[in-house]
Amino acid sequence: MALYSEDNPMIPSVLPTYNRAPLAFVKGEGAWLIEADGRRFLDLGAGIAVNALGHAHPALVAALTEQANALWHVSNLYQIPAQQALADALVEATFADTVFFTNSGTEAAELAIKMARKYWYEAGTPREKIITFEGSFHGRSTGAIAAAGSEKMVKGFGPLMPGFVHLPWGDHDALRAAMGVDVAAVMIEPIQGEGGIRPLPDQCLKGLRDLCDETGALLILDEVQCGMGRTGRLFAHEWAGVEPDIMMVAKGIGGGFPLGAVLATEKAAQGMVVGTHGSTYGGNPLACAVGLAVTKIVSDPAFLAEVTRKAGLLRQKLEGLVASHSDVFEGVRGTGLMLGLKCHAPNADVVQAGFTEEVITVPAADNVVRLLPPLTLTDDEIAEAVRRLDRAASKVEADAAA
Ligand SMILES: *Cc1c(COP(=O)(O)O)cnc(C)c1O
Repeated sequence: MALYSEDNPMIPSVLPTYNRAPLAFVKGEGAWLIEADGRRFLDLGAGIAVNALGHAHPALVAALTEQANALWHVSNLYQIPAQQALADALVEATFADTVFFTNSGTEAAELAIKMARKYWYEAGTPREKIITFEGSFHGRSTGAIAAAGSEKMVKGFGPLMPGFVHLPWGDHDALRAAMGVDVAAVMIEPIQGEGGIRPLPDQCLKGLRDLCDETGALLILDEVQCGMGRTGRLFAHEWAGVEPDIMMVAKGIGGGFPLGAVLATEKAAQGMVVGTHGSTYGGNPLACAVGLAVTKIVSDPAFLAEVTRKAGLLRQKLEGLVASHSDVFEGVRGTGLMLGLKCHAPNADVVQAGFTEEVITVPAADNVVRLLPPLTLTDDEIAEAVRRLDRAASKVEADAAA
C-alpha cells in the first residue's frame, strides 16, 4: 500500500497521535542517548521520568536477562515469585499493606478508582464522587481522562465516566466546600508533572489528609511521575509526613520496562476480593524482576541522599541559567530531580534549541520545560547539561533577535 507523504496525505502507518521529533535513538548508555547518525544527546527527559537509573544500567540488564533465560510469562493463575518479592519490598518500604501490579500508570488509575468505589460499596454506604484537580494527568483511558477532565483530553470522547468533581489547583475554599460525606476519594499528584511541575505544598497535602480523615474520603496519590526516588524520597508524599490510602506508581518503577502498581492499605483494599480485578500481563516475571532491581537500588537511603545532593547542585546551576537568560526563563520550580523551567519564550522553542545542542528536555503545560534526568546523573553531567542548556537559551535569544 502507498506510504504517507505530503503529496499523498493518507494516514501514516503509525497512528499519528504524537508530534514526534525527527530523532531516532538507537542506543543508550547511562544519561546518554545515541542517535542513528552517531550524535550523543544528554538525556534530561529519561523517557518522561521512566529511565530512573539511566539507560542500560548493568543491574537492570542482568535482572532482565536472568529472568528472560528462566521464564517470561505464566499469568496470574499461578504464584509468581518475582511478583511476590517486589510486592514484599514495596510493602516493607511504604505505608502500603498490599500491591496490585499493572503495565502502566493509566491501568493503575483505573484500579485506584475501582478500589475506592468498591470500598464504599462494601461499607454499605455507597459513595461515587471522586475529587480531582485542574491541570492533573492520570492517563488516557476513558476513566483517566474523565478523572483529569481537561478539555484537550476529553473533547470528542464522550460520554465520559460520571462521578468526578474537578476543582481548581490550590483553592482551599473550593476544596473545603466540596468535601462532604458523599466524597469517596480525592485523587491528586503531589507534584503535577504534565501540568507543568506544580508541587502541592506540604501543608496543603497535610490539610488534604485531615479533610479526608474528617469525611472518611480515601486519599489517592498519583505518584506515577513524582515517585520512585525522583524527589529524593522514595515517594514524594514522605516530605509532608502524611500517608495516602491508595497510591498509583508506574514510570520509574520499571526503569524502562513497562510496569505499574497500585499500593494500598488493608482497609482501602478490603473490597478487592477474588474476581474483582485482573490483568493478563500485570506483574509478569520480566517486569517484576526489573522492578525489584530498581526498587532495591532506589530505596537505599544513601542513593536517595545522593539524589537530593545532586538535585541541589542542578538547581543552583539552573538558577544561574535563569538569571543569565531572564528573557527566555522566568524561574525554576519542582523538587529533587523533578524540575521545571518556567519560560517566557515558547517552551517548544527551548526544547527544540536543546535538540540542536544535543540535550533532551520535555515540554509540559503552563509553558514549562521539564527536566526529569536519570537519578544516576553525575556531577560532571550536571555541569555539561547546564552548559548545553545555556547554549540552547542563547540560540533562542539569537533566533528571537533575528
Ligand atoms: C504518565 C502518567 C500517568 C499515566 O501513565 P501511563 O504509563 O502513560 O499510562 C498517570 N499519572 C501521572 C501523574 C503520569 O505522569
